[in-house]
Amino acid sequence: MRGKHAFCPSSGALLADERERPQEYRPGASPVRAPEPDEINEILIEPYSRGANHSSASALVGYFRRMRKRHAPEADPTIARQAALAIQRLKEPEDDVHDDYLWYALAERLHRHDDYTQDALDWLWQCVELSCPHCFGPITDEPVIVEDAVHSKCAINCTDDNRYVDDEIRERMLEAYNEAFRRADGRRDIEALLVLDEDDE
Ligand SMILES: [Zn+2]
Repeated sequence: MRGKHAFCPSSGALLADERERPQEYRPGASPVRAPEPDEINEILIEPYSRGANHSSASALVGYFRRMRKRHAPEADPTIARQAALAIQRLKEPEDDVHDDYLWYALAERLHRHDDYTQDALDWLWQCVELSCPHCFGPITDEPVIVEDAVHSKCAINCTDDNRYVDDEIRERMLEAYNEAFRRADGRRDIEALLVLDEDDE
């Protein structure tokens, strides 16, 4: 992931606050950050980065483990194994899924397949910030409420038509889920995300 929740795309370690000029400096290049050693990786030799849109499966698993320790230390430890299996599957299709959308598909999997309630997965939303499905830049901070539904837009209006991008974001999440688990389950594709759309459980 990049932005606020950026992590090292090979280990999943969080990136240090300190920003440095990239070694191969190009004019206008944005600064890079070092991965921070922690209890999971005491020594890290990975390169500096800005995070990535498509992190490795092991980085995503590492990030999941770190965030679970931080936000849900009381959660059943088997969730880490179940998440690792789901992440492997989500990384299998040839069209590599953007980390943000993969993260939501992962939550959906843990809910549908491994029976975690929405409440039990609440902390997952604190580890991701959705990006625009067109430019992968940030979406608006303040979602607009229209007819009781929450809508968001690309922060820089990259498509130049001020469109709401929520439906496209959902499409991406569903696609990620279905591409990954269609074969595994031998079931029909899912058409809605329960983790986002169910009111109560
Ligand atoms: Zn955009």
